[in-house]
This record gives sequence, C-alpha cells and structure tokens, in this order.
Amino acid sequence: MTRADIVFVGLGAAAMSLAIRLVRDQYPGRVLFIEPHPDRGDDRTWCGWGPGNHPFQSCITRKWPQWGVSAGDQSVVAGHPDTPYEMLRASDVAALAGAAIAERPDWVVLGNRALASAERIDTGWRLLLDNGDEVQTTRVLDARPPALSLQRPWVWQSFVGVELADHDFGQADTVRLMDFVEEAPPIAAFFYELPIARDRRLVEFTQFTPEPADEHAMRARIDTLLAERGWQGARVIRTESGHLPMAPIPPYSKEGWMRIGTAGGSMRPATGYAFHAIQRWADAASRALCTGKPPPTPQRSGLLDWLDGVFLESLWQNPRTAGSQFIRLFRNVPPDALGRFLMSQPRALDIMYVLRALPVRPMLRAAWQHGWRRT
Ligand SMILES: Cc1cc2nc3c(=O)[nH]c(=O)nc-3n(C[C@H](O)[C@H](O)[C@H](O)COP(=O)(O)OP(=O)(O)OC[C@H]3O[C@@H](n4cnc5c(N)ncnc54)[C@H](O)[C@@H]3O)c2cc1C
Repeated sequence: MTRADIVFVGLGAAAMSLAIRLVRDQYPGRVLFIEPHPDRGDDRTWCGWGPGNHPFQSCITRKWPQWGVSAGDQSVVAGHPDTPYEMLRASDVAALAGAAIAERPDWVVLGNRALASAERIDTGWRLLLDNGDEVQTTRVLDARPPALSLQRPWVWQSFVGVELADHDFGQADTVRLMDFVEEAPPIAAFFYELPIARDRRLVEFTQFTPEPADEHAMRARIDTLLAERGWQGARVIRTESGHLPMAPIPPYSKEGWMRIGTAGGSMRPATGYAFHAIQRWADAASRALCTGKPPPTPQRSGLLDWLDGVFLESLWQNPRTAGSQFIRLFRNVPPDALGRFLMSQPRALDIMYVLRALPVRPMLRAAWQHGWRRT
C-alpha cells in the first residue's frame, strides 16, 4: 500500500500541466500518477491562439501569424501578430513534463496501471488499481474521460487526421482552420490543415455530429482529398483521431476528489479547444496547492456557455449554414478579438464584435429554442 498527498488519475494534458508547475513551485508533498498508457507517443497535437505564458514554450513546434476559412466560393484569411496560432506536439510536452517529474525522487509514476475502484475512508480515499495494488491519499485529481451522452444543441466533434511528409505541399504560412465541404453532414464538416513546413502537413477531416462519427468513413474522406490534391504519394508518418464533447461539462469537486482537464470542464463547447484553458487552470491550481489550499475547479463562463449553446443550436436549425456563419465571424471580428473569444478570454468589446457579426434572426430563433429547451 502506497500513500501520497495527491494522486493524479491519468497523466495527460491536465496532469502534466499541473505537475510541471508543482515541480517548478517546489510543492512539498508527495505526488503519485496512475496512467494506463504511459508511452502514447505523438498521438495528438495541441493548438490554439497565444500569447500563452505556459511552461511548455520550448515545445511550440510552430507559430502561424495567419489563418484561413473557406466555404463554397467564399474565403477569408485573417491574422494578428499578437495572437499567433501555435502548435505543440503531445510527445514534446510529455518529454518535458516527464523530465520535471523525474526531478522529484519522492514522486511515483505507476505506468501501465489503471484505477479500478475507489472507496472513501476517514483519511481521504483508498484507490484500488487494476493489478490489485492499493493507494491512499487525501486528494484525487481525476482526468479520466467522462462517459457522456449529449443532448441537442451539444454535439460531438469527431476527427481523423494524418501527418504527411516527403512531398512539396507548397505554402506553409497560413493555417487552414476550416475548409467546409458540401456533403450532407448532420451539423458541419470541414478539413483542417496545419502547414508545419513545405514538406510537412497535418490534414484532418472533422465533423460536428450528434453521435461520435465513424472513423473509417472519415479516413476514406481524407484519402479522397489527398487524391484530389495529388498528395496520395506523400508518406503518412502518423495519424490522430478523437471524439471531443462540445458541451459545457460542469466542474466536480467533492470530499477531496476533483475532476480535471476535459472531464473537469476545461473544454470550450463551441470549439473543442482545451489546452490553453488547462494551462490557466494549472497556474491557479499550483498556486493554491503550494500555499496549502485546495485547487480551484476550472473556470467556466455562464455567458460563453450560453452563447455557445445558441450558436450550436443555430447550426442544428440550419446545418448548411455552418460555413457561412464561420466566414462571417472570421471576416467581421478583428482577428485578435476572435482569438481571445475562442480561447475563452474575451474582453467585453470582443463579445460585442462577435454578436454583431452573426445574423440576427437565426440567432434570435436559436436563442429562443435554446432557452426553451433549457427550461
Ligand atoms: C487527437 C486530439 C487532438 C486534440 N487537439 C487539440 C488542440 O489542438 N487544441 C486543444 O486545445 N485541444 C485539443 N484536444 C482536446 C484536449 O486538449 C485534449 O483532449 C487534452 O488531452 C485533454 O487533456 P486531459 O488531461 O483532460 O485528458 P487526456 O490528455 O486525454 O488525459 C486523460 C488520461 O487519463 C488516462 N486514463 C483513462 N482511464 C484511466 C484509468 N482508469 N485510470 C488511470 N488513468 C486513466 C488516459 O490514458 C489519459 O492519459 C485534442 C484532443 C485529441 C484527442
């Protein structure tokens, strides 16, 4: 039986982000990590708009000053030097966090182990692992993915991506955030393209759907795109995929057990972005823990959750308009304001720009429907 002051269930983005800060801030307690898949390698990239003052700056593979969106014959390219779009590889983040954790000989990583069950005891929690080992702690930070069933207007963001190499793909200065496609998706479908270098691309096919979408069909759609562009000869060096809940997950913190990361509500419903919000939460959590206080739950804004619900409801009502809605946003909202808004850090004026950019009647109809459904 092992004892620790904090047990992280899952050593993913949220746990690594807090761990690296706890090492930096010299947290005095003993920390233990339970992770069933410690060597996941490069299974995801984390992107979002800076500037971010996070401790993973050295892991930023690329920053792009501009980004583009297209739908049918409409297209917009926007950018701002103060809010570049940045990309970090999960493998680089894991290596940096792993090196920090290794600086603490009193900390333990239990790899290839999963939490099987938990029991409340006088001194905190008794955790039973899948190999029968037992761990006791006063504080559990739990990042296990939540089991969710989503109700309208909330949707799944399903995506499949391939990273390609050994081909001249052309320009590498503009991220293609959303190139909407016409086929009849339930809510929206688009390609996402990160031009990592002239000879390196990450191409993803993404859908917003009521239920997680079929990965084989999405992969086939990518193959079609690659053939259309003459990229089918490029070497696939890795793939990534996911099903992200585009929904406001409420924070949970009770009797020393807190959910963190996506499970704790760090993900923005209308975008699926979580990495930069996790960084802000980890800053606050490390400050609290190092001064003997409980960590705060991830911050959510009721107003942004409401606006995201109205926006997604408007896409449910008019699925074929998703592309034109995003074009309006990227064309009419100043790029730095939209970057802050999408990263859940808007100023009051940024929200005004966003509201002004969207079509009034469909939004009012969606607001009425969203409000009615909530009541
Ligand atoms: C492919 C992909 C790409 C993404 N790209 C972006 C992006 O560009 N920008 C962005 O902001 N967000 C992105 N996200 C969303 C989000 O940032 C990530 O999902 C992020 O990893 C969430 O961090 P987390 O700590 O909540 O969960 P995770 O990083 O998934 O960590 C959870 C951990 O819990 C472990 N676990 C599961 N069950 C158990 C158990 N029983 N016991 C112990 N451990 C367990 C898992 O193995 C995992 O390591 C992406 C997500 C995916 C899947």
